[in-house]
Amino acid sequence: MANPDRIKAVADGIIARRKEGHQLVVVVSAMGDATDDLIALAKQVNAKPDPREMDMLLATGEQQAIALTAMAIKAKGCDAVSFTGPQVGIITDSRHTKARIIGVRTARIRKALAAGRIVIVAGFQGESKGEEITTLGRGGSDLTAVALAAALKAEACEFYKDVRGIMTTDPRIVPEARSLPVITYDEMLEMASLGSQVLNARSVEYAKRFRVPLVVKSSLEDVKGTIIVSEEEGMEKVLVRGITYAKNEAKVTVLGVPDKPGIAAELFRTLAAADLNVDVIIQDVSESGITNITFTVGRDELARTLEVVKGAAARIGAEDVQSDENVGKVSIIGIGMRSHSGVAAAMFEALAHAGINIEMISTSEIKISCVIDRARVVDAVKALHHRFRLEEDQVELGKPFLLAPEGQERRGGGRKRKSMARKSTARKSTARKASKRSRNRARKRSFRVGSARRSRGRGRKR
Ligand code: ASP
Ligand code: MG
Repeated sequence: MANPDRIKAVADGIIARRKEGHQLVVVVSAMGDATDDLIALAKQVNAKPDPREMDMLLATGEQQAIALTAMAIKAKGCDAVSFTGPQVGIITDSRHTKARIIGVRTARIRKALAAGRIVIVAGFQGESKGEEITTLGRGGSDLTAVALAAALKAEACEFYKDVRGIMTTDPRIVPEARSLPVITYDEMLEMASLGSQVLNARSVEYAKRFRVPLVVKSSLEDVKGTIIVSEEEGMEKVLVRGITYAKNEAKVTVLGVPDKPGIAAELFRTLAAADLNVDVIIQDVSESGITNITFTVGRDELARTLEVVKGAAARIGAEDVQSDENVGKVSIIGIGMRSHSGVAAAMFEALAHAGINIEMISTSEIKISCVIDRARVVDAVKALHHRFRLEEDQVELGKPFLLAPEGQERRGGGRKRKSMARKSTARKSTARKASKRSRNRARKRSFRVGSARRSRGRGRKR
């Protein structure tokens, strides 16, 4: 909501949704760049503003937005009422500027809903037990929305963002990138921590914990958007859901490290103590008791990292420390790789085919990341998007596809078409259905979890 016209358009959307018969609680974030502007303003009067005062200031961005939204709705003849986070009992801990929600009181909202009013709540803010205004960290309005949806046992929590949904990858790099019809919480969490910025990662964690179905829609176009849910049958058949990348990585290698217990512990304890976030780590095979340890950090932390590492290197008797600030990372994410072998091979082949050297690899159960030359990150994203056919409708791809040598797979075959037809009916699921499904699943859960875990426990195939 960058300007009055956008606010009026949002009000129209809200009223339309209300007329469909839903009871609505609308969480609003600050207008446009309001939060950034407030932060800049604070810095002009104090280089290191006090976190309590910062929260006092930042909360005003959302407070403006809720009042204006309620006014716009009322101007169109509908009844609405705005509330701040503290007014509706969003209770947080007292960590200013990065508070966590510890409880939500819903009485005031329920009362307003019962009176037929549309409730507009300020996102991003709450109140600590000491009755101080707190904020939840950047993008925190998403968290407010999920927490309220959970507390009110809402049918679903819909986000209206300036994207068409969760995309297979960044459409600025791959114009054919598609909006995903559905994605699991776990995949979304990987995407969020690996660089997709559509949703605040903590809000996805919260939704997963309380099984709140999420829907990401466009605030600008009328598109289906993406549903984020727990795993459902069939979702594992899609091998790779999305591709993310990071361009701001740096690599540090500690050379000639004695290969004995306690060395890595010492090195990484020192980094942790300096509050440095390490990402991918590899240790070479040791030769005559000596090895090398390489890891990545954010590029903007390289200077500080080197300082810290040089001290630690001297203590542990390492020979040298080298760094490379021209690296990036590309990752593929999909729960399908848990049950299909060959996904890693296909990824590495695609990179090889594009002449891209892999410098480091890290994996989780549902993602594979490769550290590569920063200059090749864009090419890597393109190559992988194409290799896993993410520009097509969600194709169910099995072994034959993974084994097909790069450059030789046949595209547009009959099998694919069939699965496309199947999928398009399957995708007619709405938020309502999603929430119903997840309720049913919750019921079935007791006897589902055990067997699912066991079969998964046999190991990641990849
Ligand atoms: N206005 C806050 C921010 O910009 C919260 C949000 O947008 O979700 O981070
Ligand atoms: Mg904002």
